[in-house]
Amino acid sequence: MEFEKIDIFSDGKRPVLIAGPCSAESEEQVLAVASALVDKGVTLFRTGVWKPRTRPGCFEGVGQEALQWLQLVKSEYGMPVSTEVATAVHVEQALAAGIDVLWIGARTTANPFAVQEIADALRGVDIPVLIKNPVNPDVDLWIGAFERLNNAGVKRLGAIHRGFSAYGEKFYRNAPQWQLPIEFRRRMGTVPMICDPSHIGGKRELVLSLSQQALDLNFDGLMIETHCNPVCALSDARQQVTPEELALILARLVHRSSESVDADFMSYRSRLDEIDDKLMELLVKRMAISREIGAVKRDKGLTVFQPFRYNETIERYTRYCAESKIDIEAVKSIFEAVHTESIRQQLHIVNDTEK
Ligand code: PEP
Ligand code: MN
Repeated sequence: MEFEKIDIFSDGKRPVLIAGPCSAESEEQVLAVASALVDKGVTLFRTGVWKPRTRPGCFEGVGQEALQWLQLVKSEYGMPVSTEVATAVHVEQALAAGIDVLWIGARTTANPFAVQEIADALRGVDIPVLIKNPVNPDVDLWIGAFERLNNAGVKRLGAIHRGFSAYGEKFYRNAPQWQLPIEFRRRMGTVPMICDPSHIGGKRELVLSLSQQALDLNFDGLMIETHCNPVCALSDARQQVTPEELALILARLVHRSSESVDADFMSYRSRLDEIDDKLMELLVKRMAISREIGAVKRDKGLTVFQPFRYNETIERYTRYCAESKIDIEAVKSIFEAVHTESIRQQLHIVNDTEK
């Protein structure tokens, strides 16, 4: 895919800051937030005009009329403006209103028909588009949306990580699952990545720590929902911050460099590389033995999976973890991966299905 730089990212200033209310509720509300944000270093103003709500009967946005309020934000405060589009009609109306940047919401990214409709409506139009991750943790589906837009000729694309939904009681509204935006970046290299801590956390108290994590993971920018009177907001009241709180959050963020520095620092890197190489060698050795056992299991008519073995391993390592401050959940997922691969190899041997 071919990408071009989006203007808001091009002066190298990081993090790029996108802020504004979840929804445009009235002209007064939109302009009040804009006037309070104008001196806070905001690069792009955001607000939702059409709101995708989970259940009907909630505030679903004011619609087309609110686009004029965004035009006022542009003309009175000089901030470029953005809004969410989910259909071809939204695209048409947003373009007619001179909106500077569009974004595709998480529920829309999950639907290839909707993304294709938006891509078709944007054919031949030169506007930056930011694509939120789909609600479900599927990096291919996320990348698929980039491909659809890119195939339609949209070259200025960026990604927004807003977390992934899960069922049940949870600390985050949408689990960050940082490994997914990391995987996205590994595969999509140059595409700028914004973090939306508001929708990940779902609570304003979490915005600072999530924003810090995003900066520490080298995200290019933040999208933070901001409202002058968050508790009375018509959508996402629990997660919006006031412009003053936003300023405090920005002041508290610690900016760290992603440049590799001196030789001393690099020596730590090479020590880690050495250990990773050894881990890899051990893994290869471990798999070789595991394959040998596979042959024994086949000859003796034993099942491949013997649950007590795996449970014993985890119990043994729980003790190590307590002493070394390593999270047992992380260790479990490493051994789960090793164990799953081992079983996959043994199943091939037992059934003689290896190619
Ligand atoms: C929003 O940004 O207000 C929004 C609806 O977000 P998401 O698509 O991430 O749910
Ligand atoms: Mn919102």
